[in-house]
Amino acid sequence: MDEILSADWVSPAEAKIGRDAVKSTIAEVIGYARQKIRHGELENLSVASLLKEAEILCMRRSVPQMVPLINATGVVVHTNLGRSLLHPEAVEAVHRIASQYNTLEYDLHEGERGHRHTHVEWLLCQLTGADAALVVNNNAGAVLLALAALAQGKEVLVSRGELVEIGGSFRIPEIMSLSGATMVEVGTTNRTHLKDYAEALTEETALLLKVHPSNFKILGFSSSVAREELAALAREKDQIFMEDLGSGTLIDLSPFCGFQEPSVSSCISQGVDLVTFSGDKLLGGPQGGIVVGRVALVEKLRRHPLYRALRVDKMTLAALETTLRLYLSRREMEIPTLAMIGASQELLRKRAEDLRQRLDSEVPYVITKVVPTEDTIGGGSFPGTTLQGFGVSLTYPGLSPALFQKRLRSAVFPVISVVRENTLILHLRTLLPENMDSLVQSVKESVSS
Ligand SMILES: *Cc1c(COP(=O)(O)O)cnc(C)c1O
Repeated sequence: MDEILSADWVSPAEAKIGRDAVKSTIAEVIGYARQKIRHGELENLSVASLLKEAEILCMRRSVPQMVPLINATGVVVHTNLGRSLLHPEAVEAVHRIASQYNTLEYDLHEGERGHRHTHVEWLLCQLTGADAALVVNNNAGAVLLALAALAQGKEVLVSRGELVEIGGSFRIPEIMSLSGATMVEVGTTNRTHLKDYAEALTEETALLLKVHPSNFKILGFSSSVAREELAALAREKDQIFMEDLGSGTLIDLSPFCGFQEPSVSSCISQGVDLVTFSGDKLLGGPQGGIVVGRVALVEKLRRHPLYRALRVDKMTLAALETTLRLYLSRREMEIPTLAMIGASQELLRKRAEDLRQRLDSEVPYVITKVVPTEDTIGGGSFPGTTLQGFGVSLTYPGLSPALFQKRLRSAVFPVISVVRENTLILHLRTLLPENMDSLVQSVKESVSS
């Protein structure tokens, strides 16, 4: 330990994370080496190798772990890479609100306590046609809150074709049991009919749930019940009809991807009583779970203790309000997620050509080609639908695509790329114009390391 503590990297590391953290990191490395020796995985221990390992770990712990990267995968709403990017005005709003006292729960008109839900409720109602709205931490929380507030101790009917699992451990049956509601499965995996719901209704039923099959598609002999029919059944039997829409687009995106994804307002107009969706998927805003629907139901959610536990913070509300206002002023196609989805093939081809030329002139020996790509929207929307895009394929003499990909990932400005048919590809759709210099720099770094 003493020998390591005298190394010359120790004092800069101490300045960043403190002496105790440096010591405990070194102790961790020594402990790990001891364990390996005990298990016969390490023959002899050299101080030099321990030193190197301790240095690497201390250095890693001395710099921020949340860092920006370049998404060259062509997956627009990429959950692992932070989902939607905020519009610059939303970023500015977050900065403004987070750094100053603000009206989070204060009513300037009345000079008294206000409510944090008022800032976006009217906007959400305008944009969806609903009568009331509230926002919680994320959509998983919104579904949990709604089920707990409306169906605890009661039965909820859901089609066997909609018992979905969304990546990151959101599973309908688990959320259901956590909420205290009893799930009653109706229909079969591939086909569910209106009479399946009707026959499963009992005195104990509180709610009919429809879930957007976000990340899969059932092909072939399949059917599900139209919203209007379920809405009519729910009304007739005095039941609540709720839909977990998942990605929740506010606008019709079919002109860009040739595939209809139900918008929140279409669900409301087709008679859904309560719709839940994410803030950071197709909406293009911050992480959040949005609930829109009937006043009395939203009010029940707001009064439930879970609402307090799941409440959103001021930064989220600032970003969400600004994002929603972009929709109202018809500037929604400026929102990065929508701009990427809406990017035309000509534009992507031109940008691919520009990038190819830059790489050709700035990175000696690299072999580049503009290639068509299949991009995806991601985020549990438009399953099975691809967007035709363009990319640049890169090959470098003596560098395998897998190693090239790994080096790009380890560059100072990391790049997440795709290897397809043994070639490395950078998809243009998800590249930001302001990151192009960094991207070229990262490629240079990767071929020279
Ligand atoms: C994405 C999704 C969720 C989870 O939403 P989060 O905002 O990630 O919590 C729930 N249900 C469906 C259908 C989804 O697509």
